[in-house]
Formats: sequence, C-alpha cells, structure tokens
Amino acid sequence: MIKQFVPQEFCIKCQGCCRFKEENSVWSPCLLDEEVQEFLDKPGIPAASITIDRRIQPIANPAGADFICPFLGTSDNKCKVYNIRPFECQLYPFLINLRKSKVLLTVDLNCPYVYQAINSQEAKDYIVYLTNYLNSSPLRLMLKDNPQIIQAYEEVREVAELSLPDETK
Ligand code: SF4
Ligand code: SF4
Repeated sequence: MIKQFVPQEFCIKCQGCCRFKEENSVWSPCLLDEEVQEFLDKPGIPAASITIDRRIQPIANPAGADFICPFLGTSDNKCKVYNIRPFECQLYPFLINLRKSKVLLTVDLNCPYVYQAINSQEAKDYIVYLTNYLNSSPLRLMLKDNPQIIQAYEEVREVAELSLPDETK
C-alpha cells in the first residue's frame, strides 16, 4: 500500500473522488493485471464492473446526474473495497503520466487538499517519497508489465520525472 498524502477524514467529507462526468471517463481507475484477477476472484464483484481495457466501469449515480464507481458507498462516501482498492486509487491525487515519451509523476490540482498543500514542505517530502518508491526496481518492473496505467492525463501538473519502465532490466 502506498503511504497516503491526503488524510482519510478529509476525503470522507469531500465529494471529489470516485465520481465521473461520463460513463466512459478516462478518470475511472485503470487496474493492474493482478488487480483485475483479484477483483474477479472476490465474491460479489460482477465481471461487468471491469471493462475490456481494465478500467472500473462507472455506473449511473442513483443520487445525481453523474456516474460513480460501483464500489463507492453512497451513504457514507467510503470505498467498499478500501483494503484492495486499486493502485491508481491509492496514488491519487498523484498520477503517472506519459508526455512526449517521458514518464512523469503529476498531480491533479482539482483535489482541494493537494491544491492548498502543494507548496508545503509536507508535499515536497511526499513527492520525494513517491518518486523514490515509483523508481524502485519492483515498481519499475510493475510499470513495465502494466503499461495501461501510464496514461496521457491532461491539465495535471508535473512534479517529477520517473525512470522509464523499458529501462528496467
Ligand atoms: S479530491 Fe482529494 S480530498 Fe477529495 S476525495 Fe479525492 S483525494 Fe480526497
Ligand atoms: S475503488 Fe474505491 S477508491 Fe477507487 S474509485 Fe472506486 S470507490 Fe473510489
């Protein structure tokens, strides 16, 4: 599990994550190959929750006009699969981004917590932690085996350059 930057109590009061404007949103979490299997092996998780391109399939929000992750608890705003939530969910509001053949660590400043904290020492220390973690050999191998999670997100801020997965030997 990745050390979290945003305190859980802040997230529970926020309505920022796990909701999407479109049914096929690029912001819907993309799963590692092993996570797809873990989800499909878990009793009660329908295969239709995972798309052919290994994303969680958002569903219509019964309480609004948008779409939500099928694993979001609408009454308590908590993730129903928190202990096995995907790598991308653990990483957010940070994201792994492909830009002009560079693999970058980026941050989505639409997250209100990181928006107010991005220039703090806490954020600088966390970015060093996350960069070192993602550049470690096991994580580089994992990225090499799961290129689907290196995506071209737009309107996110670059905070560090990562080692390219194909450099992993
Ligand atoms: S947008 Fe930020 S503060 Fe809000 S739920 Fe997501 S990570 Fe937490
Ligand atoms: S798996 Fe959990 S944390 Fe990830 S989008 Fe769904 S509800 Fe949110």
